[in-house]
Formats: sequence, structure tokens, C-alpha cells
Amino acid sequence: MAIAPEVVPTTYWHRLDDGRIQCDVCPRACKLREGQRGLCFVRAREGDEIVLTTYGRSSGFCVDPIEKKPLNHFLPGTAVLSFGTAGCNLSCRFCQNWDISKSREIDTLADAASPEAIAAAAAQLGCASVAFTYNDPVIFLEYAIDVADACREQGIKAVAVTAGYICPEPRVELYEHMDAANVDLKAFTEAFYADTCAGHLQPVMETLEYLKHETDVWFEITNLLIPSLNDSDEEIDAMTRWVLERLGPDVPMHFTAFHPDYKMLDRPPTPPETLTRARRIALANGVRYAYTGNVHDVEGGSTFCHGCGARAIERDWYDLGEYRLTEDGRCEGCGAQIPGVFEGLAGGWGPRRLPVRLAVR
Ligand code: SF4
Repeated sequence: MAIAPEVVPTTYWHRLDDGRIQCDVCPRACKLREGQRGLCFVRAREGDEIVLTTYGRSSGFCVDPIEKKPLNHFLPGTAVLSFGTAGCNLSCRFCQNWDISKSREIDTLADAASPEAIAAAAAQLGCASVAFTYNDPVIFLEYAIDVADACREQGIKAVAVTAGYICPEPRVELYEHMDAANVDLKAFTEAFYADTCAGHLQPVMETLEYLKHETDVWFEITNLLIPSLNDSDEEIDAMTRWVLERLGPDVPMHFTAFHPDYKMLDRPPTPPETLTRARRIALANGVRYAYTGNVHDVEGGSTFCHGCGARAIERDWYDLGEYRLTEDGRCEGCGAQIPGVFEGLAGGWGPRRLPVRLAVR
């Protein structure tokens, strides 16, 4: 049964003197005339306001390991119910999810689901959290917030997987409702953001500093390395020094591999050695938890205690091996508290990925 997505009013916008209305959700600041949609495609002007046109619709649901988000210090080994909608507020030429993020087809939104239905499904499937992923929850924040609230009522946590490209006011509201985030720090030059993503670096840095200094949200950083675009020693050095200085040593960093996709088919996949090199630079600069991602690399994927150096969580891609933490996340060897969110021993979900369809409610 096809169900039309729900159109709901939004609050972050203001009128301009020339009659247009500016959306104030993200730094893109789309200025819309009647009937126009923003760059994200899901927010649009209808009459005298900006509306979200895809409330209650998803591009699909999947149960994943939380390590896939990636979050290595947030309820390790547990299952997360992942979902996304359509559209995106950045235009990354290398997008690895472009069928969803660049969708102009409402058909992509195959599944209808109320916040309560999502929370009930997550509980029924044994998920410890629900993740807004595949595309950025910034652009569907009203829906994401309602889903997060419904999940919290069931004792299920909410995770934002995001590029952090959001204005200060909606940033406060969004993260009041989130328990964890993985923020994509795509590069450490303004030129990369401007030329490759049609965005800016500064708002992303502000989101990271906001999360660290103004919230209790647990967050980790992902940096997708693209050969010869953002993978120089100098850039990784500058990025990781900034992370250490402004965010401290305990924010985990994930260096992940690019594969040719969307409008960037002229670059080779990232060699695993690049990820290892980036991890070494981060560790040398004082980042305590630096990981290689999306590769079989037990050394680069495992968690090593910052206190005694012992391997605390063995990881091969999303597969957990030996687990040497107490229920509250202390190293069994030296007792050091590993930064993160730990509630009991590791979950047993494993590396499985389970697509699910939600019943229409
Ligand atoms: S959220 Fe969408 S409509 Fe609003 S400014 Fe960003 S891209 Fe434009």
C-alpha cells in the first residue's frame, strides 16, 4: 500500500525583504520562493512557511552492528536499527550513499513508519539503539527528534550519523535528543569542502566543539580518506592536532577507505596502508583511540587501553573477539576507565546485517 509522506511545519526559517523565505537549518541557507525545494530536496516552501515533506517515511531499515556506524566505544557488540530518508544538504562528489542522498524520487521512501512503530520495532528486534544514517538527520530533524523521543521511552538510545553541517540553533535542539553521534570530518581544508562537497569546514568544526564542550553526547569522528585529495601527511597531521587540542585525547577517530562512486570514478580505492599511516599519525599526535575502518585489520580495528596498552577489545571489521573490559568499561588489566558508554559486557549481535520491513501503522 502506497502512503504519501507527511508534510509537517518547521520552525527554523525567516522571511526576507524580497519575499523569499530562508531556511535556517543548515549553513546552506536556501532562499526559497513559493513551491521551491531546498538543496536537500526534502524541505520546501509551501505558502508562507518551510515544511518538511518526508516526515514518517524511510528509505529502508536494517539491523546492523553498532560498530558499522562506526561507533567503537558505544555499547560494543550491540545491534542498532538503522534507517534514513532521502536527500542531503551537502553535495559530495564521492558520496557513498548517493542513491539515497541524491534521490529526487519519493519512491525511494519505500517504508512508512511512525516514531512509535520504529521504537516498537527496535525493541522487538533487540536493538539497544536506533541510528539516523544513510543520509543526514539534520535535514529531517523534526522526524529524527520524534523517533529519538519514542525510542527513549522504550529505553532505546538514539544515534546521529551526520556531517555536522548544521546551524547553531537547530544543533542545540537536535543534540538534546541524541545519545551518541558519529560526525564525518571529511577533510581539514576549506578547499576540499568548497570544491568537493559544496560546503564549508568551519560549521563542522563548530559542531564538534559544541558536542565536546556543551553536551553529554558520546561522539566519534570518521575521516574518509581519498587518494591525493585529503590523505597527505600534512593534512592528517593538522586535523589530528586540532582534534587533540580542541576536543582532547579521548574522542575516537576512524580512518576509512574510499571506493570510487557517484561523480568520483576517476580515483582508485584507498590503499589499506593509507589508513594505517593516518592511524599512526593520529596516535603519534596523542589521539588515544584511532582506528582503521572497513578493512580486515585486527591491529587497527582493536581498542587498546590508554592506561596499560593492553588490547581491551579485539575487533576484526565488525566482529568482536576477546573482550577485556568490565561491565562499566574499565580495563580488566589496569582498571583504567575507557572513554565511552558501556552498560554491561559486550553484546552478541556480531557482524550480521539484517534488512527489515516495518509493518505500516
Ligand atoms: S536544510 Fe535543506 S532547505 Fe534548509 S538550508 Fe539546508 S539544504 Fe537548504
